[in-house]
Parts: sequence; structure tokens; C-alpha cells
Amino acid sequence: MRRAAIYRIQRLFAIIGFAAFVGIVLIVARIANVGFSWEQFPITQNVVLPLPVPAPKEQIALISGHAGFDSGAICADEEGNTMLTEAEVSADIADRAAKLLRSAGMDVAILEEYDPRINNLQVDALVSLHADSCIDASGYKAAYYLYSTIPAEDARLVDCIDLYYPAATGLTQHANTITHNMTEYHAFRKVGPTTPAAILELGFLGGDQELLTKQADRAARGVADSIRCFVDPPDPTPEPSPTATDAS
Ligand SMILES: [Zn+2]
Repeated sequence: MRRAAIYRIQRLFAIIGFAAFVGIVLIVARIANVGFSWEQFPITQNVVLPLPVPAPKEQIALISGHAGFDSGAICADEEGNTMLTEAEVSADIADRAAKLLRSAGMDVAILEEYDPRINNLQVDALVSLHADSCIDASGYKAAYYLYSTIPAEDARLVDCIDLYYPAATGLTQHANTITHNMTEYHAFRKVGPTTPAAILELGFLGGDQELLTKQADRAARGVADSIRCFVDPPDPTPEPSPTATDAS
């Protein structure tokens, strides 16, 4: 029995030794470039195992309107004390929307109004979040760059906002007040030419205050759903709304 075991071990070592010898011969032949046409057997193809490549995450940027710069629009009481600012409303909703998008598997950066990262920014979508003045009016509005180099893509982003933001918030479009401040928004000029970008006025600090403060999750859901519609279009692709590109 013991002799048989020793014999098996000897045979095993003989096989290993032979395999090693063949390997050394092949390596020497490879180095000396003799034998086969080695180009047909590139080392990398033989050595690198095909690993599943994870799908790249969608890169999203949100500008928290006025952050790091000023307060934007304000609501004040009779004594002139500031009660609510556009900057704080935008920051809160940007934060909530970012969480929703991250939980949907996206990479999200929240940028300040004049964040240096806006320069030549290359992402799958940029949406700048603002709110309108503290007057007794209601409605949201979205716009893209008047001089866009990718107007079809930008229009599709605004179309997604026009579909999903009102659905989540119950707000209606306040399109007749879209201004040059929106269509010639500073960040539009700065982002990379292939970055789809839009500016969204989330509602009025006055008439929509309840929604923007106490129901901020609804507004954030509207922002996140709009962006998801754009980067991961539902089937069937949403019909463009006729007023979405009206940026006059
Ligand atoms: Zn603003």
C-alpha cells in the first residue's frame, strides 16, 4: 500500500515536472520568437480572463440655485426680516433629488451657482434648480439654452421636465414668463458642448410655498423623475409637448 502511494506521488511529480518543462520550452520559444506564428496567440488574449464590465453610472449635475453666491428671491415679513430664500429652497430640493437619483444608481454632484466645475462640465444631464419670487403666483417653468449646440437633446430634457415635474407636483407651466435670464443662463455657456442642460424654476416662493417647503419631497420627486426620463427613456419615449421648446 505504502509503495503504491509513493509510486502515485512520484507519477504526480513526473507529470508536474513534464508540464513545467513544456512551459519553459514554450516561454523560451516565445522569447526567441521561433516555432509558431506567435502573433496569432497574443499573451494578453490568453492571460486576461473576460470579466463582466459594469455599466458606467450616469453622471448627473444639479446646480443648487444661488448657492455660494447670494440668497436669490426672498420672502420677508412686515418688518423686513427674511423668512424664506430661494437659495435655501433650491438647496433643500437639490439635496432630496440627489438622494433619489443616487438610490436609482446615478452619480450626482450638487454644484454651487458659480462652481468652477461648471466650466466645460461633461455629464449626462445638468439641471439648475431655482425658484421664482415671493409673489402670489403659481407655476413652474423650464428652459434650455437659446444658442444650444445640441437643441434636440436639450429640448428632450425640457420635455421630460414638462412631463414629470407637473405630474409629481400638480403645478402647471408658467411658460409666458420664461426670460432671457433663463434661456441665456450663465451655466449654459460654460458647460461642455455635449452636456444636455436645463434650468428649472421649481415654483413661486409666494404662491407655491407650501409645496416648496412642506412638500419638498414632491418637488424633488419631480426633478428626479424628469432626469430619469431623460437619461433612461421610458418605453414608449414620451411625446414632446408642443410648448416645451417655446423659450420666448
Ligand atoms: Zn434664481
